[in-house]
Amino acid sequence: MEFSKQKAEMIERLQAQGIKDPMVLQALDTVPREKFVPVAFMHKAYAEEALPIGFGQTISHPYTVARMTELLAVHNGMRVLEIGTGSGYQSAVLCELGVHLFTIEINRTLARRAQKILQQQKYYCAARSGDGNLGWPAMAPFDAIIFTAGAAAIPERITGQLKEQGRLLIPLGSGQEKTLTLYLQAGGKLESLAREKFIFVELKQPQSD
Ligand code: SAH
Repeated sequence: MEFSKQKAEMIERLQAQGIKDPMVLQALDTVPREKFVPVAFMHKAYAEEALPIGFGQTISHPYTVARMTELLAVHNGMRVLEIGTGSGYQSAVLCELGVHLFTIEINRTLARRAQKILQQQKYYCAARSGDGNLGWPAMAPFDAIIFTAGAAAIPERITGQLKEQGRLLIPLGSGQEKTLTLYLQAGGKLESLAREKFIFVELKQPQSD
């Protein structure tokens, strides 16, 4: 199947929705989103939809991935921690921007599947299965930390793993609608820079399912 037309339409739509960063648009134009969705949904890969990837999880809408990436404002060589690998699509977009990515996924099957696809697509990152609430202390500190699932509050082990002037992006709140909140680590404190409403799945606690 040929996806170039659908992809071009997605990029136009993202621009119309307000995505401006040319690097982000370029990254989304390069990553083959169809490789990160289940075969049964490939035809919808570039639609503005969150598609099921199994285990009650979804690959985020293109706009969500684009906007999160834009807010995170990463560049080449930064060390970035992603919590919630899911399909691996957001991971691929971050790798495309040249970051040194560390990604954690709590569901082992999803973690393995995403790792395989990322490797096949030549996106080399450090990926593991585990509880993202704990961060990845051995690899800290990070220039940026991104949560792709929503939490009631910032997990307490996370902030210590963020560099001074580092950015933290996390969907906060209870219920389906979350407030995607962008923080800057400044003088040992988190300063909130932006808030936007989005729908996200819940960040799991290891004992929950
Ligand atoms: N951006 C991803 C979104 C995946 S959905 C994509 O486009 O595919 C969020 C993911 O977070 C799910 O795969 C879920 O299993 C994972 N997750 C939930 N709680 C987690 C936790 N505590 N630690 C790590 N991953 C978690």
